[in-house]
Amino acid sequence: MDETLMTSNLDEKVNKSKELILEAINKFGKEKVAIAWTGGKDSTLLVHLVREVFNGQVPIPLVFVDTGKHFDTVYTFRDDLSEQWNLNVINAMNTEVINATEIGIVKIHRLSEDMRQEIKQIGWTKEEFRLALDREPCCHTLKTVATKKAIIENGLDALMVGIRWDEQESRSKESYYSPRINPKHIRIHPILHFRWDDVWEYINLNNVPRNPLYDKGFTSIGCFTCTNPNPEGKVERGGRAQDKEQTMNRLRALGYF
Ligand code: SF4
Repeated sequence: MDETLMTSNLDEKVNKSKELILEAINKFGKEKVAIAWTGGKDSTLLVHLVREVFNGQVPIPLVFVDTGKHFDTVYTFRDDLSEQWNLNVINAMNTEVINATEIGIVKIHRLSEDMRQEIKQIGWTKEEFRLALDREPCCHTLKTVATKKAIIENGLDALMVGIRWDEQESRSKESYYSPRINPKHIRIHPILHFRWDDVWEYINLNNVPRNPLYDKGFTSIGCFTCTNPNPEGKVERGGRAQDKEQTMNRLRALGYF
């Protein structure tokens, strides 16, 4: 975490982010870098910054990780903004795991050897897991593995992600460029230095569209099964399932955002 950047003013932060975006797209090329877009405030701000750099266009694809467990408003927001901003969205869904689910339970014997290896890698040895309730195998397969597949299938060398230093302890040690090995690619984090209040200041100043859930007491939006309103709003991710938050370091080491 760079305290100097964290305490700079909003214009300086925006300029730094724009420099990083331009540098990354020049370095990797428009076909080889994508934006990880969740439809949440941070990644939507990142997409808005890319539009600012490219005169209202988003010249690179977006990867939307579709767990099948998002709030309806997230899907509506994704579809409406995609049309409004002319976005090229890759919908990344782990259909293999979803198809192997019966009444919310994933039967591991129905999965391919590669998928079974992914689950084994996180130390899960049971013959099944419950979507949303068994958070590590659920998040790993529906989010991380879906992201990995999107990177491989679309030949991406880099993925821009809208994480921030002040958002979560496991993210405070991140750097702007973060090399990953499985699959080999670079994570680029252009808004690391934004604080929570900077995000809202930017969104309000620039009329960036936002999911209506933010006006209903949600401060951070994940799957509907694992996210609650957080009306006190003292801790940004306070509405997220806290057992998952405690395993973030472990999930992030395996490729989670
Ligand atoms: S947030 Fe919950 S439902 Fe979504 S992938 Fe993770 S454990 Fe599964």
